[in-house]
Amino acid sequence: MSERRFELPEELQELRALVREIAERKIEPRAAEIDESDEWPEDVYRILVDHDLMGVGYAEEDGGSGGGSLAFGVFIEELSRVSAGVSLAPIVSKLGVIPLSIAGPEAHRRECVRGICRGELLMSYALTEAGAGSDVAALATRYGRDGDAFVLNGTKRFITGAGISQAYVVFATKDPSLRAKGISAFLVRKDDPGVSFGKAEKKMGIKGSPTREVILSETRIPADRLIGEEGGGFGIAMKTLDYSRPVIAAQAVGIAQGALDFASRYAMERRQFGERVADFEGIRFMLADMAMKLEAARVLTYRALAACDAGDPRATFHSSVAKCFASDAAMAITTDAVQILGGYGYVKEYPVERYMRDAKITQIYEGTNQIQRIVIARELLKAFGG
Ligand SMILES: Cc1cc2nc3c(=O)[nH]c(=O)nc-3n(C[C@H](O)[C@H](O)[C@H](O)COP(=O)(O)OP(=O)(O)OC[C@H]3O[C@@H](n4cnc5c(N)ncnc54)[C@H](O)[C@@H]3O)c2cc1C
Repeated sequence: MSERRFELPEELQELRALVREIAERKIEPRAAEIDESDEWPEDVYRILVDHDLMGVGYAEEDGGSGGGSLAFGVFIEELSRVSAGVSLAPIVSKLGVIPLSIAGPEAHRRECVRGICRGELLMSYALTEAGAGSDVAALATRYGRDGDAFVLNGTKRFITGAGISQAYVVFATKDPSLRAKGISAFLVRKDDPGVSFGKAEKKMGIKGSPTREVILSETRIPADRLIGEEGGGFGIAMKTLDYSRPVIAAQAVGIAQGALDFASRYAMERRQFGERVADFEGIRFMLADMAMKLEAARVLTYRALAACDAGDPRATFHSSVAKCFASDAAMAITTDAVQILGGYGYVKEYPVERYMRDAKITQIYEGTNQIQRIVIARELLKAFGG
């Protein structure tokens, strides 16, 4: 058995079984084709909506099916086990809702969550710019107040879901020289004036999930679309990542599990020198190392998700630890899965090369793993006067 798991409450085990059944039956058969065409799979998104899966992790009073971060993480893990690209529709919608959950306004939060759960709304999170990647405080998208409205101008880069999402959380500054203190967050709608999208990026992996620029040109929005306080945007962006990084960890765990399952099955079937390749010690030890890394990644991921649910003050630390470890583990595990398949791992006939390409992005987005190590060390050293 390739999977041994941290014990989850019964309802989460049931959720996992349900998502796995739907994912294997309805999404896995489409995964290679989505990877090949790189087109947004509206039909697969509808499968998630029709099975009420877009409501996983949202409160029942908001139209969700309940559960919190841990439930959402299990859902994302199982989707990513068959298609990481597909998992990004719920991932980025959640990423878009978190700032509203942290800072309001409540009416917009409720409306957005209801829309997501019903399959009427997808959200995106627009922080990155050409000159502001890891250094978020360098962002240059400007906003100004004009009576009872805000007017935004600038270009956000690498925005997941751009073009298909109906709502965007956009971070902008009133004066770039103020750095972090000048940044505010806004809810922008696709149909607001002056909103357009750049060309779709041609990516290494997570195909089927569009990544484009979001261009704002004299985009005028009502003042009640300000999220939280003016000047509070940087803090909201960072707190949002505390909640969302464990979800990327869950995505990485799912990708790694898909690769390990495939490689284990293959090693039991493929014969060379008159034996199953799984009987060679060199291969067995590789599988053992992969399983160890995956198990550690999963436990750290669930711990970070549980920390988010509990409002643990150490959530920043746990989130970065989980995201960094799980994504590094996924990269190593998927690379080893390709190795176990030999030449067959390198060709598109089998899914392991896709898992390897998909794993790479988990080390990059929502803060590169260099940035995660900076966060982890900073949190660690706080206890020592750092
Ligand atoms: C497919 C995809 C989807 C994305 N989706 C979104 C999205 O939906 N919303 C959004 O806002 N952004 C999104 N991003 C942006 C992503 O979060 C950034 O690409 C990432 O944070 C890194 O920024 P950068 O690419 O500008 O790299 P840079 O910041 O230019 O980094 C270049 C290199 O320098 C390293 N580095 C930078 N600073 C330091 C430091 N202080 N110490 C050590 N090393 C450092 C980095 O780790 C990296 O290796 C997406 C990106 C991609 C590729």
